[in-house]
Amino acid sequence: MTMPAELHAGYRNFRSTRFAQEEERYRAVSAGQHPHTMIIGCADSRVDPATIFSAGPGELFVVRNVAALAPPCEDPDVGFHGTSAALEFAVEGIKVRDIVVMGHGLCGGVAASLNASRGFPVGRFIGPWVGILDQVRDEMLASDPALGSEDKQKALELLAVKLSLKNLESFPFVAREVRRGNLRLHGAWFSIAEGKLQWLDPETGRFDVLAE
Ligand SMILES: [Zn+2]
Repeated sequence: MTMPAELHAGYRNFRSTRFAQEEERYRAVSAGQHPHTMIIGCADSRVDPATIFSAGPGELFVVRNVAALAPPCEDPDVGFHGTSAALEFAVEGIKVRDIVVMGHGLCGGVAASLNASRGFPVGRFIGPWVGILDQVRDEMLASDPALGSEDKQKALELLAVKLSLKNLESFPFVAREVRRGNLRLHGAWFSIAEGKLQWLDPETGRFDVLAE
């Protein structure tokens, strides 16, 4: 099986440019990782946290899934819990200082949740996963039934970030470290077309455009 041409070209470019420039750094972090921040982001190909935050190797501990969701803390003996496992390692093992949940515009996972509410099939695994959003989605649709489809999409993208932050605190080890002042939780939303990040203000509940 040959390597896909795009990947091979990209790898060769990495070796000759980025790795060549950052060789020392790669060597330094090979002894162990001490990233300051965990990012929970979407698997979407357009919202790479390392690109958005200009992060080098060893800086960000990233888990990406459909719709950038943090699930609630559930029985670890039932099913498989990839995001929860990454969260546990980030908090208990690495002891990150910050966790950022980063939603984004045009999120297909959020669109799937809205489609599911209209009875459209959304996939055997995607459906239950984005079902994490069912309650906040239904509350949003009930509270403002006149919203247009683009507004519904954006509103649910932002609500998903807030719900994920709430879900993070359902993990006892997260709640404990937040209480002790060792861990801070943040919400953000990234606009793909504009390349702009909005940051959740916990006081107002609004996502503010960041100064550049
Ligand atoms: Zn997405």
